Amino acid sequence: MGPPGAGKGTQAEKIVEKFGIAHISTGDMFRAAMDSGTPLGLKAKGFMEAGALVPDEVTIGIVAERLGQPDCKQGFLLDGFPRTVAQADALTSLLANNLGVRLDAVLNIEMDREKLLKRLTGRRLCKTCGTSYHTEFIPPARADVCDKCSGELYQRQDDSLETARKRLQVHDEQTKPLIEYYRQQGVWQKIEGDQPIQQVLKAILTALGQKI
Ligand code: ADP
Ligand code: AMP
Repeated sequence: MGPPGAGKGTQAEKIVEKFGIAHISTGDMFRAAMDSGTPLGLKAKGFMEAGALVPDEVTIGIVAERLGQPDCKQGFLLDGFPRTVAQADALTSLLANNLGVRLDAVLNIEMDREKLLKRLTGRRLCKTCGTSYHTEFIPPARADVCDKCSGELYQRQDDSLETARKRLQVHDEQTKPLIEYYRQQGVWQKIEGDQPIQQVLKAILTALGQKI
């Protein structure tokens, strides 16, 4: 967990590779659905473009289905879900009643608001392989070209300054209450996001080491 731009996706890629587990990013699932014009994508589009959350029943539905797929049997990492108390309640019930597993840890990557805005507005992604860059912090060797696959880089529509501000506000209002929710379950841990990528990863692995 953590506000938009905190580094969830960047860290998630490294963690799933290390542990060989499924990466479940609701944002990526919605974007893929939008790109292929499915009914799910059409439902999500307006909310995403406005920087709002996709309604709980839609989001819970796709996660419930995804967690039932065979690759989740080895474990999974949820990235950007849950984001509301209703989603967290649904996840608690899914894990206990349908899947019979428990969360090892809930990691919340935290950072200052101004720095988050800089992270979001400078984010660039590869159209082909999805690798994430930042115009200032993690620039590609050639402007707008992916170092890994030479694919073209693009900016997410919802990373404009105006929509990024809105998303941070939505996070404060709807997602922050989950800190207390998971603190009470004894699984919550804070990760300092304002440090180099490898240092954040180290903090995450230390936090996970205490749990798994
Ligand atoms: P989130 O998934 O939480 O929205 P991302 O992982 O996409 O965030 O990161 C947001 C932006 O910040 C991206 O451009 C990414 O390349 C960059 N970034 C991620 N982690 C760091 C870091 N530790 N230091 C500097 N930039 C980072
Ligand atoms: P992200 O890729 O995590 O930054 O998410 C991008 C957008 O997808 C968000 O601003 C929401 O519109 C939508 N989204 C992603 N995850 C969720 C979620 N758990 N609940 C509701 N909307 C979500």
